[in-house]
Amino acid sequence: MKIFQKGFNYSQDGPGNRLVYHLSGCNLKCRWCSNPEGMVQKPGKYTEVTVQEILDEIISCKPMFFSGGGVTFTGGEPTLQFDELKKLLTLLKKNEINTAIETNATHPRLCELLPCIDHLIMDFKHFNKDIHKEWTGLENTVTFENFERVCNSKINAIVRIPVINGFNNTPDGFVEYFKTFDTHNISFEILPYHEFGKVKWESPYTVENGFITKKDLESFEKAFINNGLKIIHM
Ligand code: SF4
Repeated sequence: MKIFQKGFNYSQDGPGNRLVYHLSGCNLKCRWCSNPEGMVQKPGKYTEVTVQEILDEIISCKPMFFSGGGVTFTGGEPTLQFDELKKLLTLLKKNEINTAIETNATHPRLCELLPCIDHLIMDFKHFNKDIHKEWTGLENTVTFENFERVCNSKINAIVRIPVINGFNNTPDGFVEYFKTFDTHNISFEILPYHEFGKVKWESPYTVENGFITKKDLESFEKAFINNGLKIIHM
């Protein structure tokens, strides 16, 4: 597997103390990406390890997984390395290790991983396919399908919405779409735009005036809550 970064994180990408692996490569090119160094699988920019090597490393870290912690796979986009990821998640489950993935939810086979995942964190960036494509390089048809499948599953999922001025800073379209589903197992996390990754961009960074105000964020969350959609803060 190709990994460009790893390290422990507390309660950020799943509960408790977690060993987080950033898998190299992404099929999107979000203009605001905070890990642009992981977008493209460039030789020299990642370390290649076998599934068994990662499994051994994770098992050796078991005593560190306190407060309900475990291991999280993020990216880039972890599902680009689908077969290895599925194999590893299956082995982790057999070893009773808590697992989480953070995904852009564009992989058509995403839901095959659900039996091996304790915490699913999936992005939902925009409800309009053309705007989604303009800002990320890809339409969101599969994300819609995966959202529906996840609603119908029993898995507890967090749907992350990065809110960016000029892209998606009004909640109405999201709320209209989400409220047509039974979202009893879904919590929504609204992430205000930030520029933590801007300095890492080698190609031009094209988001301008992306920040939203505290008031906008509050009214975004309020629109969700008023429509029976659960909000979570991590
Ligand atoms: S999906 Fe995530 S990792 Fe991929 S380009 Fe977008 S923000 Fe970056």
